[in-house]
Amino acid sequence: MRDLNACPELNDAEIRRFGRHLIMPEFGIEGQRRLKAGSVLLIGAGGLGCPAALYLAAAGVGRIGLVDPDKVEETNLQRQVAHGYSTIGVSKTESAARRMLDLNPDLVIEHHNVFLSVENALELISRYDVVIDGTDNFPTRYLVNDACTKLGKPNVFGGVLRFDGQLSVFDARFGPCYRCLFPEPPPVELAPNCAEAGVLGVLPGTIGALQATEAVKLLSGIGRPMIGRMLVYDGLDMSFDTISIAKNPACPCCSKPASEIVLKTEQMVCSAPQVGNSVTAEALQARLDAGEDLVVIDVRNPAEWAGGVIPGARLLSKPDIEAALREVTHGSAPPEGSPLAVIPRAEEVVIYCQGGVRSAAVIRALAAAGYPARNLTDLTGGFAVWRGPVASPSVLAEVPG
Ligand SMILES: [Zn+2]
Repeated sequence: MRDLNACPELNDAEIRRFGRHLIMPEFGIEGQRRLKAGSVLLIGAGGLGCPAALYLAAAGVGRIGLVDPDKVEETNLQRQVAHGYSTIGVSKTESAARRMLDLNPDLVIEHHNVFLSVENALELISRYDVVIDGTDNFPTRYLVNDACTKLGKPNVFGGVLRFDGQLSVFDARFGPCYRCLFPEPPPVELAPNCAEAGVLGVLPGTIGALQATEAVKLLSGIGRPMIGRMLVYDGLDMSFDTISIAKNPACPCCSKPASEIVLKTEQMVCSAPQVGNSVTAEALQARLDAGEDLVVIDVRNPAEWAGGVIPGARLLSKPDIEAALREVTHGSAPPEGSPLAVIPRAEEVVIYCQGGVRSAAVIRALAAAGYPARNLTDLTGGFAVWRGPVASPSVLAEVPG
């Protein structure tokens, strides 16, 4: 939190405008001065960025950077409420800035009409206290994560799709980063964005306003930030669940020293040709419900297990499987005490991860080590599409191999 001595005083107009902040003792004039001294970089002035930008401007954040290369289009207006018919064809940063300055004329707005890239990410992000990730694509999301982790900046993450939303604060100094949960992007066919799958227009309003809330808390030093927790919002059910998320000690990003984190552009690729069989989440649930004694292996990492697993699943992470496979002679049984004992060779095994990328890789590795491909079945879409019952992993820790 910023030293109050380094924060500017409020002018008379600010004291009038922010009166409803100032009368709250938890926030007060100190919180307001910290906001005025603070800065936020908004990546994306779209569905999430619009509400976040308006509320951060209104709340009295002193300096806001807007990163967006696009111009306003009519199809944006279903959810991007900082823009309007009067600014169609205008850059989104300019369109949003007009509304923001109307709310707070003292605000300093910096326009970055560019794509965030490997070349500019560190320079841009280093100049702000807090980053709000309002992107709608995986390569940028990973880039924001890696750059924030390298620079030690808090990354207020929001995601929306169809009727669902997610929110967290990734700050690798104090908790997990995005790659702790999702080490690698899903293949293209499993990564629909809002343009393909749709989004209820008000959904990003909800999540973007929550992102602004977290940014205000971080800058003013009030409350408990969403570090180590993920909010999962189901708009159809109108339910908000919070799950704990843990740092992955083997995270490909935040387990490294900052100097060794190298920014890269994640390529969205189609998954490799399928080896073995596949089963849908519905079909798997039906087979388990019918009492079939099926071996199910969860190859995600412990941080993901903590959020729940398919009941009865045996837990063996992809890195552990890969390490154990190195001890196996092709086609022969694993050595005594190998963790691979939980994966029988002569019966069907269903393998899943979060989105289907790692499970497919595990199946390829097992087949390459001589496990019959006909016995290896991939859960299509992974745990992300599982709608059946979920068990706590602690209950399953003693499941015998
Ligand atoms: Zn991490």
